[in-house]
Amino acid sequence: MPGELIQVKRDANLGLLDRLYLPAIVQGLFVTGRHFFRNLRGFVSGKNRRDFVVQYPEERIDPPDAFRGMPVLVQLENGQPRCVACGLCESACPTDCIDIVSAELEGENAERFPETFEIDMSRCMFCGLCEEACPEEAIVMSREFEIASYDRASLVFGKSELLVPEPLLERRLAFLRAEYQRAGEPDGG
Ligand code: SF4
Ligand code: SF4
Repeated sequence: MPGELIQVKRDANLGLLDRLYLPAIVQGLFVTGRHFFRNLRGFVSGKNRRDFVVQYPEERIDPPDAFRGMPVLVQLENGQPRCVACGLCESACPTDCIDIVSAELEGENAERFPETFEIDMSRCMFCGLCEEACPEEAIVMSREFEIASYDRASLVFGKSELLVPEPLLERRLAFLRAEYQRAGEPDGG
């Protein structure tokens, strides 16, 4: 059901009752109560459960393609990251939680690759700016969000934790290409 547009009248002259906020409080209690009893009836009867979002963790949802879980690195067929260690994601990250050490691949073109690539997930806020900054579609937001830990040190993820085979990220990559109207895979992909 589409949402209802509510216009807030900020300049309205408030009467005494309005200034006491009593009508708003009663109205809020009424709305909360209505949802509570409708939920209760649905829970007891097993029907009309439309107000239940999801019974996590027993129930799981398939997040939409726009969902931003933890950032991961795209892994090519040869097992290597697509990343060319340009550092743009590192610069774009507002929480400074990406740390890349680049090295040169042997060969005439002296291409670069990330010798180490770490993300401190305890600081990552899943904003997706790294994904936006990457010219290679090498770092993308995954559907993974269950990364809670009692130990902050274990939340520094290296390449072994971050690399995800490209076919598993196809939905997100297709979403990004449509979103940014990209033609397809970047060169060398
Ligand atoms: S999602 Fe945001 S905070 Fe997390 S690594 Fe990317 S840019 Fe940094
Ligand atoms: S922006 Fe992309 S290619 Fe550049 S270092 Fe980050 S992940 Fe690698």
